[in-house]
Amino acid sequence: MVKPFVPELVYVEPRALEYPLGKELKQKFENMGIEIRHTTSHNQVRNLPGDNHFQRYRTAKSTLVIGIRKTLKFDTSKPSAEYAIPFVTGCMGHCHYCYLQTTMGDKPYIRTYVNVDEILESAEEYMQQRAPEPTRFEASCTSDVVGVDHLTHTLKQAIEYFGKTEHGQLRFVTKFAHIDHLLDAEHNGRTRFRFSINSDYVIKYFEPGTSRLHERIEAAVKAARAGYPLGFIIAPIYLHEGWKEGYREMMEKLNKALPADARKDLTFEMIQHRFTKPAKRVIQKNYPMTKLELDESKRKWKWGRYGIGKYVYTNEEQEDMKDTIGSYIASYFPEASLDYFT
Ligand code: SF4
Repeated sequence: MVKPFVPELVYVEPRALEYPLGKELKQKFENMGIEIRHTTSHNQVRNLPGDNHFQRYRTAKSTLVIGIRKTLKFDTSKPSAEYAIPFVTGCMGHCHYCYLQTTMGDKPYIRTYVNVDEILESAEEYMQQRAPEPTRFEASCTSDVVGVDHLTHTLKQAIEYFGKTEHGQLRFVTKFAHIDHLLDAEHNGRTRFRFSINSDYVIKYFEPGTSRLHERIEAAVKAARAGYPLGFIIAPIYLHEGWKEGYREMMEKLNKALPADARKDLTFEMIQHRFTKPAKRVIQKNYPMTKLELDESKRKWKWGRYGIGKYVYTNEEQEDMKDTIGSYIASYFPEASLDYFT
């Protein structure tokens, strides 16, 4: 069982100490006896301990920077929401396929923002622009925000904030089961609590440092009992040997565990595995022993964001995964909605 994240090294940006959460976190880590370094900017977090890239990458993944979010302009976040809301960047997980490896480049440390009120004020402006249309905010675009939230309670604050809004909805997705502090948040049904799930094979070989399937399912049951609308993202769907059986077992376990109440307002999202050429290079550098299949000749090339082509499964394979996993969803969870396959 993966333990709740505790950083090995903490950096504090000076302006972070102007905010109560910044002071509180610094004090908390001091009390825990964790080494704290001061930095003028997170860009200075260069000289992490380690003799080589491999070690420094691992140190970075257990380094937390307490900082300020300067850009309060949000990115769009299709297809799951209108906007990405930034509370944290980076992640302590070690999923081999993770897109953060390329987007975070040489700064894979975790950075948590303490100017939460300012971020929420910005969300308020976005909501007003669209009102009376609802506005959905996705909190998981740049991190697994739950992984660090037991320390910061930022997400909890956001859940309660959106719980009081008229037009706002919050959503996030996690591979971590450390959610107990979120169970008493006053969410008023305005936050969709999603878990990323996968076959045992994918979790075992490609998702080190995250909670196992049964732990995520147990956490999902707790979230459902706390009245949260639930969702599951099956991602990345990966065609390993025995994948049909693997994904069927996953759905069976979910079916056995989920209480009846949780099934009425339940969503599924399906995302196939994909990679880009730059991602492949970074994955092979950070996880040289990975079993992850990254053979361009077996995939279909597709235009991606910023003009960087991505490699997805062939059309026949995509149809097969949609039909197979889609039919499991339809038979086990007939009331659920399948939001998209991509
Ligand atoms: S838990 Fe999510 S964000 Fe973290 S490494 Fe894994 S895929 Fe990336």
